[in-house]
Amino acid sequence: MRKHAGQFGVPIIEHQAVAFRLADMATKIEAARLLVHHAARVIDSGQTATGLAAMAKLTASETAMFVTWAAVQTLGGWGYSREFPVEQWMRDVKLEEIEEGTSDIMRLVISRNLG
Ligand SMILES: Cc1cc2nc3c(=O)[nH]c(=O)nc-3n(C[C@H](O)[C@H](O)[C@H](O)COP(=O)(O)OP(=O)(O)OC[C@H]3O[C@@H](n4cnc5c(N)ncnc54)[C@H](O)[C@@H]3O)c2cc1C
Repeated sequence: MRKHAGQFGVPIIEHQAVAFRLADMATKIEAARLLVHHAARVIDSGQTATGLAAMAKLTASETAMFVTWAAVQTLGGWGYSREFPVEQWMRDVKLEEIEEGTSDIMRLVISRNLG
């Protein structure tokens, strides 16, 4: 009986390509979280943070897109199957790069607030 879901006799995280992808996912999530918290702290202090807020929205949206793509890729066929929620997340997460200002508009706002 198999003790774990795996491939080639080992858990998939023991394949370096998968382990590195999980490392990238965790690192990007942590970086996005820090940027969001930093922007929130600046706003809470009463300062203007237009560019910073746009950086936070852009980074969090693109991180969500990357992490969801990476989850689908890591799960292979199961990631594409409608039996698991990640397939639904793949479609839903695209909205994050569109709603409340697209990623293009976030880049526009950031560039206009440089310097
Ligand atoms: C499911 C869903 C729910 C939504 N909910 C709400 C809601 O509750 N409240 C609300 O107010 N809105 C809501 N929206 C609208 C959403 O905020 C807009 O779709 C979003 O702001 C993008 O505007 P648009 O669709 O008019 O695209 P457009 O502005 O027509 O953009 C089309 C493309 O051109 C690019 N683009 C546009 N202008 C520039 C520019 N100056 N420079 C570079 N690139 C540019 C965009 O990045 C995009 O790639 C919702 C949208 C969806 C899909």
